[in-house]
Amino acid sequence: MRLSRYFLPVLKETPSEAQIVSHRYMLRAGMIKQASAGIYSWLPLGFKVLKKIENIVHEEQQRAGHIPMLMPTIQSADLWRESGRYDDYGEEMLRITDRHNRDMLYGPTNEELITDIFRAHVGSYKDLPLTLYHIQWKFRDEIRPRFGVMRGREFYMKDGYNFDVSKDAALHAYNRHLVSYLRSYERMGLQAIPMRADGGPIGGDYTHEFLVLADTGESEVFYDSAVTDLTFGDRDIDYDDVAQCQAVLEEFTSRYARTDETHDEALFNAIPEDRRRTARGIEVGQIFYFGTKYSEAMGATVQTADGKSVPVHMGSHGIGVSRLLGAIIEASHDDKGIIWPESVTPFHCGIVNLKQGDAEADAACDALYQSLTALGLDPLYDDRSERAGGKFATMDLIGLPWRITVGPRGLKNGVVELTSRRTGESEEMTPEMAVEKVAKIYAPRASM
Ligand code: ATP
Ligand code: MG
Repeated sequence: MRLSRYFLPVLKETPSEAQIVSHRYMLRAGMIKQASAGIYSWLPLGFKVLKKIENIVHEEQQRAGHIPMLMPTIQSADLWRESGRYDDYGEEMLRITDRHNRDMLYGPTNEELITDIFRAHVGSYKDLPLTLYHIQWKFRDEIRPRFGVMRGREFYMKDGYNFDVSKDAALHAYNRHLVSYLRSYERMGLQAIPMRADGGPIGGDYTHEFLVLADTGESEVFYDSAVTDLTFGDRDIDYDDVAQCQAVLEEFTSRYARTDETHDEALFNAIPEDRRRTARGIEVGQIFYFGTKYSEAMGATVQTADGKSVPVHMGSHGIGVSRLLGAIIEASHDDKGIIWPESVTPFHCGIVNLKQGDAEADAACDALYQSLTALGLDPLYDDRSERAGGKFATMDLIGLPWRITVGPRGLKNGVVELTSRRTGESEEMTPEMAVEKVAKIYAPRASM
């Protein structure tokens, strides 16, 4: 993309309404624009990152054997009356009446809708296990929307639902989700720690929230510092292997790590003092086994192998896709702007032409642009007639991990400069070498 033809409404001033760095940078970098409280338009740059994050979530869910689909945003109140949640959900639910005076709502989550689909089409244990998921906009009329996309009213969420014939089978689905979530967050360059959470009114021990540590997080968390040493890495996990998935769960959840809702002072104090940590965290996901709550209320049963009819065991599993943009920025920025991990960057690298209009510089930039594009890469070429300082500031703000700088002086010696946004280090090399290097950096991802 040539910047002169793109839509990147960068702001010079820091918007006064933004209290945290991710919100400030998302506004300043022209990624989002508030439409009304807690509701945002996704401008082209923000939309690109949103889609990259969404894509990682899709890939990891499908790797785990979970099946994508799409349910609507607007739902009928009748299903929610069946489960009893139409009255229970309270003021966070946006209720709508259509022209025929029917009660509708903008879905805050989808347990009812998916259970309705299940009961209409599945009747036998032979069709299980089954996990269906979608990535769709949700609406919750949050009392205090704030921090930009972190706590919106309209937000984009992956929600998945497992259906299993028994509790044991459903717990395997739970473990499988934990593994797939660890993989997803790590691919986004995040460490998200599974922490024991509160089952809420449904109760039960089987729920974990995934938290990214950040001073601006809304949750207070308590953990054994040993949990931050764990990484999933590129392990080859067989998602059908019950023991393997169970082992990962145990490895990642056996140490103390809890939100304030489940915090236990006595257990916490049993951790060696130098490993006790209290911090803030951003909740980027939650997994949940809730048994037969919805299947019993809504009559979703299956025949077992010995002919009995039993309510199906279910769980639901959510990832805050739009909130993740904020979480990634909170975890990866400096005082000049965002620093995107390569896996979610909106463009693979920037090209800065120091002297637009100089025949040689323009030709070198065009050639770089074409070589990178031919290799399947997506560069952003700043071809505006702006001064160099302004171009650098824009590139730093929008956070592309790599920048190739082209100017008449370097070209006299046959070189351009390749700069890492993260380290600030620059290296001179021929344009061909710069292309090769950038291509190599992204090569492992291209094959994923
Ligand atoms: P919170 O405690 O932050 O209100 P929640 O526990 O109610 O969230 P879940 O129902 O677990 O949320 O939803 C799954 C994920 O969706 C959360 O882990 C979070 O990442 C994201 N999410 C929830 N509410 C919002 C919101 N208002 N804005 C953006 N993302 C959200
Ligand atoms: Mg939650």
